[in-house]
Amino acid sequence: MTEYTQQSKGLVIVYTGDGKGKTTSALGMCIRAAGYKKKIKIIQFIKGTWHYGELDGIKLLSEYVELEQMGKGFVGIIDDKEDISTHIRAAQVALGRAREEMLSGKYDILILDELNVALKLNLVKLEEVIDLIRSKPEKLHLVITGRNAHEQVIEAADLVTEMREIKHPFQKGILAQRGIDF
Ligand code: ATP
Ligand code: MG
Repeated sequence: MTEYTQQSKGLVIVYTGDGKGKTTSALGMCIRAAGYKKKIKIIQFIKGTWHYGELDGIKLLSEYVELEQMGKGFVGIIDDKEDISTHIRAAQVALGRAREEMLSGKYDILILDELNVALKLNLVKLEEVIDLIRSKPEKLHLVITGRNAHEQVIEAADLVTEMREIKHPFQKGILAQRGIDF
């Protein structure tokens, strides 16, 4: 029988799937956790060239949440003019920073936004990601977002939610909306 106890246990949380809401969920968690004066660090992989509302929104919670964009934008699609090696270097630096911040003891929650995508695109290695998860301090909550989560990342997690697309306005030709999508 499962025994339930009230304890402080740092979780590994994964938001994946092809439906919208992965990054939004992680950002929502920041609001909840800031309510308990928890310290949160967000590192965004891939993202780095476009402006997202959360960059300014998070500043309103700056006492509790820090966000760093460490990517070079879309990889191989849309407006990408970078060499793949540039994306790889950026992702490597971001992963190094993630480890440093994770072990710094400064944060209660570390959010690695779009890390699943960086892994899927081979910008970082699976072993590096698994090793990062295994090195997580006991009490820290680690949140990893992005579609196509690797099965070993899923295996290593405590909580995995798959967003499944049922409808998305994009299918009707409606483009991304300010404050909702970016
Ligand atoms: P959000 O940041 O809105 O929570 P997400 O993190 O779940 O979305 P990503 O895969 O990171 O999704 O995609 C980011 C962008 O792509 C967002 O602008 C989002 O609205 C859009 N998007 C997400 N899912 C879909 C979809 N199924 N079809 C088209 N666009 C999508
Ligand atoms: Mg996202």
